[in-house]
Amino acid sequence: MSLNTEIATAITDTLAEAVADYEDFHRSPELSMQEIETAKAIADELEALGLVPQAFGGTGVVAVIENGEGPVVAYRADTDGLPIAEDTGLPYSSTAEGVLPDGTRTPVMHGCGHDTHITVGLHLARVLTAHREAWSGTVVLLFQPGEETAAGAKAMLEDGLWETVATPEVVYGQHVWPGRAGDIYVSSGTAMAMSDSLRVTVRGRQAHGSQPENAIDPIVLGAFMITRLQTVVSREISGRDAAVVTVGTFHGGLKENIIPETAEFTLNIRTFDEDVRATVLDRVRRIIAAEAQASGAPEPIIEEMHSFPRCFNDPDATAAFVSATEAELGSAHVHVVPAVTGSEDVGAFADAIGVPLVYWFFGGYSPAALDGDEPPAGNHSPHFAPDDVPTTLETGLRAALTAVLSRVGK
Ligand code: ZN
Ligand code: ZN
Repeated sequence: MSLNTEIATAITDTLAEAVADYEDFHRSPELSMQEIETAKAIADELEALGLVPQAFGGTGVVAVIENGEGPVVAYRADTDGLPIAEDTGLPYSSTAEGVLPDGTRTPVMHGCGHDTHITVGLHLARVLTAHREAWSGTVVLLFQPGEETAAGAKAMLEDGLWETVATPEVVYGQHVWPGRAGDIYVSSGTAMAMSDSLRVTVRGRQAHGSQPENAIDPIVLGAFMITRLQTVVSREISGRDAAVVTVGTFHGGLKENIIPETAEFTLNIRTFDEDVRATVLDRVRRIIAAEAQASGAPEPIIEEMHSFPRCFNDPDATAAFVSATEAELGSAHVHVVPAVTGSEDVGAFADAIGVPLVYWFFGGYSPAALDGDEPPAGNHSPHFAPDDVPTTLETGLRAALTAVLSRVGK
């Protein structure tokens, strides 16, 4: 199957406006779960298409496009920006600022490319509403906030998403990344890692730096914990399984001659399998507790920061998606790739109702950028932004339409 001529023309016709929309969204990103203006802009565009946007989970926006008998499919786009100071030099660079939950003021950037996702989602709605003759069924468009903090899909689901709107037979979604503009990349089965982040407060006893006998030193204790955590992957996990344990922050103390009362570190765990995940989490907790005991310290406080669910591409639905997009984009432009260690909460929408997910990546860079001496900037870099915006958006839109119309197309 490839897209019919009218749909192909509609994509070409909507592209200039898509680029303008993209630049607008790029200029004004908002932090996770604070996407108030973004949600308003999305809802306004959907209303202009004659749709009735509904709010879920605060800043989530959902539009249901009903078009007669037929299957129900869902397509998800995430909408949040990141606390990054943009350094792309683009004329439409962000100068936005935001306030993190801990009160810190920060520059904000669409450093993960969710501005391309919003734009593709809106123009998918535009083409589908303008060409109702080409399809029959129902398309549920999900504009999800808070992907970066794994809060958004959860919030929309807890707000009764699938109790309110038609439940789909499949959930589709995609993400821009530093691949070739014009190409898409997809994994069958496990597509991305599960991710768990923990904050550990190591409790000790404060004393003068000259009197260690009166102290329980949380810095030394924390250092032992962090060192021993390196053995979880190397000594506790089978060589056949994959896991990553990274301690990304370690803070404690204010002065060289004060042994502080507490120290704090945060860690992130990536796994691809539920059993491995459970094992790693158990071993991490065991080591932290046991090291504290070995030092005679009070029990450390372990808080869950966030937890990204599995992102599992249903093999049958993925095979159907691959053959449909190969027909549309050409097989040289569709790459089947291994799972990546990044994480996503899109899988929650499908897993909540037990339907297949197909989630893929689309490239954002020209050959010149990819084949240069330096590798191009990746997602979450202050330099990350597609350098061939029209091709990037066009490919995202063609892939999304191909996926959706492979189910509801006439
Ligand atoms: Zn992202
Ligand atoms: Zn991201």
